Formats: sequence, structure tokens, C-alpha cells
Amino acid sequence: MATSGATAGRPSSSHRSERLPPNHGSNNHGSGRNGVANFSVNNQQQQQPSQNLRSKNVSANSRRSVTPTSRNRSPPQENDPEPGRVRVAIRVRPRNAQELSDADYADCVELQPELKKLKLRKNNWNSEFYKFDEVFAESASQKRIYETVAKPVVESVLNGYNGTVMAYGQTGTGKTYTVGRLGKDDVSERGIMVRALEDIIVNTTPSSDSVEMSFLQLYMESIQDLLAPEKINIPIVEDAKTGEVSVPGATVVKIQDLDHFLQLLQIGEANRLAANTKLNTESSRSHAILMVNIRKSVKNDEETDSSFQEKDSKTDRHGNQMPIVRKSKLLIVDLAGSERIDKSGSEGRLLEEAKFINLSLTSLGKCINALAENSPHIPTRDSKLTRLLRDSFGGSARTSLIITIGPSSRHYPETTSTIMFGQRAMKIVNTVKLRE
Ligand code: ADP
Ligand code: MG
Repeated sequence: MATSGATAGRPSSSHRSERLPPNHGSNNHGSGRNGVANFSVNNQQQQQPSQNLRSKNVSANSRRSVTPTSRNRSPPQENDPEPGRVRVAIRVRPRNAQELSDADYADCVELQPELKKLKLRKNNWNSEFYKFDEVFAESASQKRIYETVAKPVVESVLNGYNGTVMAYGQTGTGKTYTVGRLGKDDVSERGIMVRALEDIIVNTTPSSDSVEMSFLQLYMESIQDLLAPEKINIPIVEDAKTGEVSVPGATVVKIQDLDHFLQLLQIGEANRLAANTKLNTESSRSHAILMVNIRKSVKNDEETDSSFQEKDSKTDRHGNQMPIVRKSKLLIVDLAGSERIDKSGSEGRLLEEAKFINLSLTSLGKCINALAENSPHIPTRDSKLTRLLRDSFGGSARTSLIITIGPSSRHYPETTSTIMFGQRAMKIVNTVKLRE
């Protein structure tokens, strides 16, 4: 898609009528340089911040302007009864050919999408109900998944906040299908990455805004560049003042239009495959991370209907008002398979791999547990993944998690652990506390 027909400025009103508004519309919340990112548990929203992801002055860089007046800005007041809670959706993929002929294993999940509930059956006598923000049956379309799970995050990013969409689940349950599907032959199959960029491109103007991407793979605690595979072990840099996280050593490409993005995604996917073939491993063992940085010029009159209004924006030396530039970042993460890797019998590199492989995933789980329990210490420093997420998974950033499962009772234990991960994530709330 060419950008010639792109519309400038804010999303259309239909685009903005989101189901899940940004996570900072509650009382006392604010953003800007003085905001301190803070997580808490959803039933205790007004607690004191404690030392964790939030211990650092991770200013709510989810929304930052180049003008010096960002502290005057308050976040939009939207009608979200639970601002800041991480949204968790669950998607069940259809039975595959093997499962269809697998008479020994019945389905262990039963869905009640209208009640947003899922019943997990251990056997004929034991079953448990779980509630999620959304429950998607096998028939749910890619479009519906995007619009429900990711679009609210994308809208928030277009409004200047950071955001993250992550897919979590056992290998083979549909994470890459949900997140990374290119849909070359059938656009209805396009996944979250493509649809998100489509929305971002339509809602930015090439002459005044910029949309840049990096595409990374995190494998055994090494960040590799999927757009330049010779680059490995790329360091993560965190700005001491702002808390902004970046990977400056990675290739950054300014996206021209959707076709350009599709090409880049395809190159990245091919490099992912090649890198993993070379290492004799599977892509299911690595995390793929699409990082999109947006700089959006905002005219003052565009801001008049919102509480983001700048009080005194900068002027150039001729006295003309300079446009306000909003910076924001979207991370779309196709996580490594959540199944446990059996260390027994492994030796040499395989043992090494088994130890490291899911360090980031384990660390993400620990952070989620700690956040859900409102623990004073969130161990974000333990892994590259949680370090990368530091400024996009908290504060005023908005986060959606889609967990994927298969229907067959053959994988009951893995399915249970995936569901428990999602249940714990539902308890997390991101809040922002002003430091005046
Ligand atoms: P993962 O990334 O979790 O390992 P994949 O996305 O590669 O899993 O999916 C495994 C297989 O199942 C692929 O062949 C994929 O096309 C198929 N698949 C996954 N989810 C769906 C779905 N919702 N509808 C149809 N096919 C699916
Ligand atoms: Mg995959």
C-alpha cells in the first residue's frame, strides 16, 4: 500500500471508539517527564509505589514531547473502569490434522466466548472455569483478534504512549500465526504486526511524521538483528535520565509504506529461519521482537480537544510556533514457546541452551508473578527481554497479552500452565504517579 492516500493527524472517530481506552485515565494519574512508572495490583490501585520496574525514574516516556512543558500535560480522561490493567485474551487454535485423527485425546477446553470464560477439563469429574478479557474460539478471525487485542494499544501508541502486544503459549499453538502472519496470498490472514503497521501508516503523514522499525531476535540472551543477521550480541541501552530503552546498534529502517514493511518483515522472517537453521535450533526457542518508533508532529489546534494541550509550545527564531513532536514506541513480541525444555540427557551446547533458552521467559514469568502479588521487588534486570520491556510495559504504557492454546487434552499440562500465566497477568495494573 502506498502512503499517498494516507490521512494526516488523528485517527478517525470510528478508529478511536476503542473498547479498551489507554491505561491512564484514572484520578491522579499523569505522564510526562515527572511521571514515575508504577505497577500495582488491580484491586489496590492507589497503593504506594515500591521498588521494581518502577523503582527507577522510568518517566512515563510513553508520551513525551520535545517541548519543555510536558509536565503540564495530563493524560486523556477516558471511561475505562480499570485503567492500566494488562489486558489478557486467550485464543484456541483449531485442531490440526494430527489432532483430528487422535482419538485417544478429546478436547480439554470448552469455550463460552460471550461470557469471556473458558472451561478447562482435566477429566470427566474435574474442570475449572477461567475468566479472561476475551476468549476467542477456533473460528475467530485475524481481523477480530487484531481489533480487540492490539488495536487499542496501537491507538494509544498513535496518541503518544508506549505500548506492547505479546503472544505467549506453547510451540505450535498459533503465536506466530496470530502475530507475524504476512498474509501474502490472503490478506484476511494478516497477523497483528501487519495490521498494526497498516493502521500506523494510515494515521501518520510521511512529510511530517516518522515511523521507524527494528526487527530483533532474542536467543539465549543474545539480541540479534533480523534485518542484518551478522549483528549479534547487540547491547540494550537505557537512558539514565528518562529511562528510555533502546537498541541503538540494531538496524533502523524508516518505513515508507505497507509494501515496504511487508518486505522488511519477510526479510526478517527469512533471516530468523536461516539463523536458527545455522544454529541447528528452532525459531520456537527465540523471541521475535518488532520495535516501532513513531515521531508524530502535532499541530496545536489538533490538541485543543484533548487534555494533552501544550500550554506554551516552542517558537523558532522568527517567532513561528514549532510543531509539537510526540515520540512513542510499540513492541510486538512473538515469545519463545512456553513449554519446558528438558535438560535431562542434554550435554554441551544443548545443555547450555536448555539453561539459557528460556531465561527471558522465566524472568518474564517471575516479573508477572511479582507484579501480580504487588511484590516490592520486580526482577527486571534478570533478562534481556524484561530489560527491553522496561519502558513499554508499565507506567502509562498500555499492554495486551494474547495467550494461545491448542484444544487437545494431550497437552493438558502445558495448556494449564499457559492459562495460569495469563490469569496472573490479568492482575497487573500499570499506574503512573506524579513526582511533583
Ligand atoms: P507457534 O508460533 O505458537 O509455534 P504457529 O503460529 O507456527 O505456532 O502455528 C502452528 C500451526 O498451526 C501453523 O501451521 C499455523 O498455520 C496453524 N495455526 C495456528 N493458529 C491457527 C488458527 N487460528 N487457524 C488456523 N491455523 C492455525
Ligand atoms: Mg512461532
